[in-house]
Amino acid sequence: AIPLVVAISTAVSAKNGLLIRNRTAFENSRKITTLVFDKTGTLTTGEFGVTRYESLSDQFSRGYILSVATALEQNSEHPIAVGIIRKAKELSLSIPQAQAFNAITGKGIEAMVEGKSIKVVSPGYLREINVPIPEKASSQIIETVVFVLIDDKLSGFIALADQVRPQSKEAIKTLQANGVKTIMLTGDNATVAKSVSEELGMEGFFAEVLPHQKLDKIKELQQKGEFVAMAGDGVNDAPALAQADIGIAVGSGTDIAAETADIILVNSDPKDIASLILFGKATYKKMI
Ligand code: ADP
Ligand code: MG
Repeated sequence: AIPLVVAISTAVSAKNGLLIRNRTAFENSRKITTLVFDKTGTLTTGEFGVTRYESLSDQFSRGYILSVATALEQNSEHPIAVGIIRKAKELSLSIPQAQAFNAITGKGIEAMVEGKSIKVVSPGYLREINVPIPEKASSQIIETVVFVLIDDKLSGFIALADQVRPQSKEAIKTLQANGVKTIMLTGDNATVAKSVSEELGMEGFFAEVLPHQKLDKIKELQQKGEFVAMAGDGVNDAPALAQADIGIAVGSGTDIAAETADIILVNSDPKDIASLILFGKATYKKMI
């Protein structure tokens, strides 16, 4: 039989936007010392809009840069892809066909378009191939920038921005007030990670983290004696959600994240994580 206090708390949790899939994890929520947050889609809405796009080549127009990038992104479900496709639709661009599509995990995508090799990649990828990031592409505001390579030559860039969820700041504050450290873990570049984590007053961030490295970062924190909860929404976050002592999935995220998580934030509201810890404390104090 389910103890009455747990049954009541489960109902209270549901009312507060928490779907508890693993009761042991809920019971352990009071032990959390560090909360690791994915950025895109978790602390932010993950709804990217294109803010700028430019050609960096005499050969190609900025419209061409956006249209070949869109040809590739039609094969991707990344929030960046969704933003680029929306912009191309708004502009009614004609989009060429892409062939031999390939995802470069955590770094971008590549395909052939009209006989040319096209890549849409992260700043980290450019650094790896020793291509300096052009002045034009660096920005004053918080933008996620992806670069378009045509036949392996840097030919343009697309800048996008999404928005911090309005509830994120209060969520971080409440967690900190309850003695929980908050850390951001993201595949996005360090400039964006630094700005957003500072804006939210978080204790730290890890940027340009590849999907398989997200899990390693959780392990590192655990080895330092932290009791770690991880909140994320993406396919990329699933291994880290599984590794964490408590995995929390954002409801609006991917099915894989939800299936891996112990707890689901039904309303995609990071504030509900703070409620989770407070409920956990209240519930199991009563039982002892
Ligand atoms: P996160 O979900 O934490 O933002 P990802 O691992 O999904 O991290 O992506 C990391 C980076 O790789 C992105 O910020 C972007 O620069 C690049 N990237 C990944 N997928 C795509 C894509 N479909 N189009 C363009 N860039 C991409
Ligand atoms: Mg994400």
